[in-house]
Amino acid sequence: VGKEDAEYLVSLVRSVPGFPKEGIIFRDFMPVLADAKGLRILLNALEQALPVPPSEFDSIAGLESRGFLFGPAMAAHLGKGFIAVRKAGKLPPETIGESYDLEYGTASVEIETIAVSKGERVLIVDDLIATGGTAKAATDLIEKAGGTVVGFSFVMRLEGLDGLSKLGSTPSSSLISMP
Ligand code: AMP
Repeated sequence: VGKEDAEYLVSLVRSVPGFPKEGIIFRDFMPVLADAKGLRILLNALEQALPVPPSEFDSIAGLESRGFLFGPAMAAHLGKGFIAVRKAGKLPPETIGESYDLEYGTASVEIETIAVSKGERVLIVDDLIATGGTAKAATDLIEKAGGTVVGFSFVMRLEGLDGLSKLGSTPSSSLISMP
């Protein structure tokens, strides 16, 4: 991403200290989507920064909820399909799930069993990677379903948490990094 575009995106991200709990700075990218120029820059930048060429994946999987807001637009523009990785309990059976640890307790992600074909090559997208736990669980889920995760596209990356190390050697991109 060019410096000017990156700065424009950063200027639109809304930071909310203490949400959803003490000690967390919530990084809200909704104002990027609401801004006509910001949205265009975002989608162009995500495509330019793709960690692998479009010929190397068949579909894009977005993580609920904010991966749903730009994943389908990216997929449509690249001529790919879109897979929704849901939070647990939202889908009718048949589903497959994968649990992962949160700071307190656990969470699960789910997809329909028919969502991924055998050998399908998938790019995972989300707004932000923090610890990497969500992206890792989504990866395990897609691979359990018979697919292969070939890359990750994030809008933001939180510095200092080393979330990318959870993703092994699979290539990833993030447009902006934030403290
Ligand atoms: P993690 O599993 O720790 O990498 O967390 C990533 C998921 O939680 C993403 O779906 C993000 O949307 C959300 N998330 C985590 N931390 C933040 C934050 N500081 N601001 C906004 N979203 C966050």
